Amino acid sequence: MDRQTHENSIIEYMLTLLHIADDAPLNTVKKSDAEPTGAELLYLETARQIKAFIDEIPGGFLIYNADGAEEIVYANKALISIFKCKNLAEFKTLTGNSFVGMVHPDDIDAVQKSIKSQISNSPDNLDYVEYRIMRKDGIVRWVEDYGHFIHSETAGNFYYVFISDATEKVTRRMAETATIINEGKAKEQKLQSLIEEYDKERKLIRQEHLQRLEVIEGLSVNYDSILYADLDGDKVLPYRLSTRLERQFEQRLQVRELQWFLTDYVKVWVHPDDRERVRQKTSVEYIKKALENNQTYYLNYRCIQNGETQYIQLRIVNVGNRERVSQIVMGYRNVDEEVLQQMKQKQLLEVALNNAKIAEVAKNTFLSNMSHDMRTPLNAIFGYVALAKKNADKGKSTRAYLDKIETASNQILELIDKVLEISYMETQDYAVKEEPCNILDFMRDIHAASINAAAQKNISLALHADSVKHANVYADSHKLAQVLNHIVGNAIKYTKAGGNVVISVSEKTNDKSGEFVTFYFTVEDNGIGISKHTLDRIFEPFEREHNTTLSGVYGLGLGLTIAKHLMETMGGDITVESELGKGSKFTAILSLRAESETDEQQIEAEAALNACARGKKILIVEDNEINLEIETEILQDLGYETDFAPNGKIAVEKVQSSANDEYALVLMDIQMPVMDGRTAAKEIRKLSNAAHANIPIIALSANAFESDKRESIEAGMNAHLTKPIDVPVLSEAIKSAICER
Ligand code: ADP
Repeated sequence: MDRQTHENSIIEYMLTLLHIADDAPLNTVKKSDAEPTGAELLYLETARQIKAFIDEIPGGFLIYNADGAEEIVYANKALISIFKCKNLAEFKTLTGNSFVGMVHPDDIDAVQKSIKSQISNSPDNLDYVEYRIMRKDGIVRWVEDYGHFIHSETAGNFYYVFISDATEKVTRRMAETATIINEGKAKEQKLQSLIEEYDKERKLIRQEHLQRLEVIEGLSVNYDSILYADLDGDKVLPYRLSTRLERQFEQRLQVRELQWFLTDYVKVWVHPDDRERVRQKTSVEYIKKALENNQTYYLNYRCIQNGETQYIQLRIVNVGNRERVSQIVMGYRNVDEEVLQQMKQKQLLEVALNNAKIAEVAKNTFLSNMSHDMRTPLNAIFGYVALAKKNADKGKSTRAYLDKIETASNQILELIDKVLEISYMETQDYAVKEEPCNILDFMRDIHAASINAAAQKNISLALHADSVKHANVYADSHKLAQVLNHIVGNAIKYTKAGGNVVISVSEKTNDKSGEFVTFYFTVEDNGIGISKHTLDRIFEPFEREHNTTLSGVYGLGLGLTIAKHLMETMGGDITVESELGKGSKFTAILSLRAESETDEQQIEAEAALNACARGKKILIVEDNEINLEIETEILQDLGYETDFAPNGKIAVEKVQSSANDEYALVLMDIQMPVMDGRTAAKEIRKLSNAAHANIPIIALSANAFESDKRESIEAGMNAHLTKPIDVPVLSEAIKSAICER
């Protein structure tokens, strides 16, 4: 018999015994009506004793059916009292006589599932469960249940179970578990908050680190290499590396010994002449000392890379403790551009200084020339005036003296003209006129103007103009004549007696229409020539090969400056070739508009203009007697009648009281006493009689700037002419003012 079968049969036997003991009076065990036998009585007595024993055991004991409604088969006294029932009947009522009724409704499902699963997994058909029960008095208690499943062929399936009150044990355990859980939770919470704190701190550190990197990055954009070094720890860590420094830190971000790095850097890269200085100023001792009072210092030196010199600036910054210098950052940057820029600037300054010095010398020379050149003719004037006075009564040589006075005066006038012209040039207020001009006639005039001066020096002056095909052009012949007369004059001046000067003009048509023609005016001499040194600066103001005092040749050093400027103003240029001792060749180049057929008609119109103005009366307003005399004579020479007024006020009165058309024009001086010319012009324009108010007025003034002209026009005048009087210009202006009214 195996253990299981043996156990089953014991339980079956016990069930039988319990059954007998429970419901039967003693005769139950009797097999017949006969008196019970001794054996039967012993059997009954054993059953009672076993039942009494089981009833009295201190723990609860239960047998119930495993099938159907799980009906209770047996419950001992201890179990009944666990449920606080008085007897079995009460217990059966409370539980509905079933195991299901014993267990708290909230626990029954879990208990039944657990029992089944334990039994099916247990080779001994054992289970252990804890559950709540509801006692008769309504109190809920915990019990523990050790069960054993029995399958019996005869009695069917059932459990027998040992049950005991486990309320204290479970409560204690639950309390313990709760404590453990709570403690665990608290620990978990603490851990969580630590993690969070750590995370926060990590983020902050990271952020700070990033910010620092950004700051370093921002501050260091100009630096090719950035190194962090610890002086006390003898360590250097690269943060950014140039191709140069990569040699010292083969692998990027590799930590090196600082001393080794500093020595190797100087040896490999620094220019030999700068090595000692760099070595000394990057020694740990020096850095510490230098950074004691300053947060930073820098060092400029040269490096040699691929055979080329580069200018480097090293900046060292203390990034650690102020009191104890140890942590530093070293930034290296290439300053080639800046150094070159500085050198360029220095060069420019030197040139500017040099130019200023040259200009100063030239100005001083000019001033000494000016004073010499003005004094010479003035001396002559005074001298000849004295002689003329002395001889006036005797009628001797007075005319010759007057001629000489005239020459000397002209020289002064020329001087003043040139200085004025330079002033004009500086204000750049220069208008170019376009007038009909016949180049061949023009060249003949140029030639004629200098022929005497050449003859006096026994210099042959030739003119070649044969190749000109477009002789009739539009040009500012006054300005062009000024240029050519000057260079011809120079050629004669700087050529020795017996020399040759050749003036020539040739042309080149610019476009197919032939509208513009380029003229090459050359003046070639075989004179003294110009040195290379002077040639380079010949068009600069006050530039002369020899000054007047030294050479004895009169000159200002302004003529060519003016000539060049005049040519450029007209849209042309002037060039020079020369060799010392051999001669010079000046070429003035200018494009001019060729005259067309219709221009002929204009010439006819001009003739008509002349006819219209002839014989008209002009009112001269002039306070200076000599000027009045000159102007009167010029106008009368031109065929006009004249009247005069000594100031603006009288002029206005004269015009106002004149018969209509009595005066064809007013020639008005500007600076006058009582009423100046411009005020007078304005007053005339305000007169009620239209014939008087519209009378043409021409200003004649010593003030020659464009601004003066503008003011005269604004005052209502028709034109503004300058003194000394240029007769053709005056004649033209009068004619157009009178006839084009
Ligand atoms: P200026 O003749 O009044 O001194 P310019 O400006 O006309 O001033 O000329 C400047 C200098 O150029 C002269 O002083 C002279 O040294 C040189 N020069 C000009 N023309 C000639 C020339 N044809 N031959 C030699 N030297 C010349």
